[in-house]
Amino acid sequence: MKRSQELLARAKKRIPGGVNSPVRAFSAVEGDPPFIKRAQGCWLYDEDDNQYLDLIGSWGPMIAGHAHPAVVKAIQEAAVDGSSFGAPTRGEVLFAEELCASHPALEMVRLCSSGTESTMHAIRLARGYTQRDAIVKIDGCYHGAHESMLVEAGSGVATFANPGSPGIPAAFANLTRTSPFNDLSTLEDHLKKGDVAAVILEAVPGNMGCIVPAKGYLKGVVELCARYGAVSIFDEVMTGFRLSKGGASEYYGVVPDLVCLGKIVGGGLPLAAFGGKAEIMNNLSPVGAVYQAGTLSGNPLAVAAGRATLSLLTPDFYQRLNSIAEKIDLRLRSFVEEQGFSFARVGSMFTIFFRSKAPRSYAEVKECDFQKFGKFHSIALSKGLYFPPSQYEAVFLSACMTEEDITFLVENTKESILLL
Ligand code: PMP
Repeated sequence: MKRSQELLARAKKRIPGGVNSPVRAFSAVEGDPPFIKRAQGCWLYDEDDNQYLDLIGSWGPMIAGHAHPAVVKAIQEAAVDGSSFGAPTRGEVLFAEELCASHPALEMVRLCSSGTESTMHAIRLARGYTQRDAIVKIDGCYHGAHESMLVEAGSGVATFANPGSPGIPAAFANLTRTSPFNDLSTLEDHLKKGDVAAVILEAVPGNMGCIVPAKGYLKGVVELCARYGAVSIFDEVMTGFRLSKGGASEYYGVVPDLVCLGKIVGGGLPLAAFGGKAEIMNNLSPVGAVYQAGTLSGNPLAVAAGRATLSLLTPDFYQRLNSIAEKIDLRLRSFVEEQGFSFARVGSMFTIFFRSKAPRSYAEVKECDFQKFGKFHSIALSKGLYFPPSQYEAVFLSACMTEEDITFLVENTKESILLL
């Protein structure tokens, strides 16, 4: 990793920690991060010409693989016509129609540029609509790096053992109440107070590793919100268009008031969205008084990449993707369990937990053997497997994995675990 190491040393002088998003620094695992030069399908190539089977997929978006010809073509064609107008376009209308036709929660949608923005705006909208200030979030769920959400958050914030952040005034943090995943009674205690504007959660958390929702939990959350006048928000930034075309909502047959989308909807370009019931969405400016805006919102290149990606997501596509995930599950789960660890999977997301039973909550994820995970990660990386560099993350598979790729993953994962 000679060139990667050189670049990291230079990067550290000009970019805090050498990275533009903390989890990329590999702080929770042994070794330094490779600097990626290019990617094709489900393979990544680094500056030192090492190649890795990509199990992160840019943290979710690359469901159809890197540099998919249809997506590349769409971006190239759009770029020729200009990369940003800051004005309405035909593409964004078609896209909004396609999104609403795909996701059961969407009657109306607004585009923005990142998952962080989508949850930030959805929460403001819920506060404006209900005229209430408090928010309930679920421990270990991550919804982006903004004031209301960096409280008991997962992903990078959990990885750095600091699930909040200095810089967030107590006045903000005090408005965010937390409740454990898979626990309806704590949630109801919060809601009973009558000051909760919204409950936000990852329908299937990926940011504390992949956690399987208990039967009835998601339905219970939506029903409790309705009973106590709070807006239910599913953050489907990871699960949207991954678990199905209608995300976790379609997968579990539960429809929240609002939904946040990101990652796959932008096809690898900066695009996200939030939407839901028209009655709520019409409170947004310029129709209503809740302000929300963005210079690059609905950017024509991002919309083109998103539309091209969504057009690939046919029933056959999901069948192929899920059968890849099932084959991996069949070949790895019992081995992992025999070694004293656990394997949690929902659709094409999974996590190997270094704990004997798959966690059902953030508190249980914290009981994992993080040292073992860190060692596993570096051994697996040396064998060409690019696993997420934290126990608090999930693997995201892409539909372009071949039988050979599956075998490469299974065999090298087993060998890495046996070397621990
Ligand atoms: N919500 C969820 C569920 C996420 O996984 C993420 C990012 N991993 C975000 C929100 C924030 O998205 P972004 O990084 O695009 O701001």
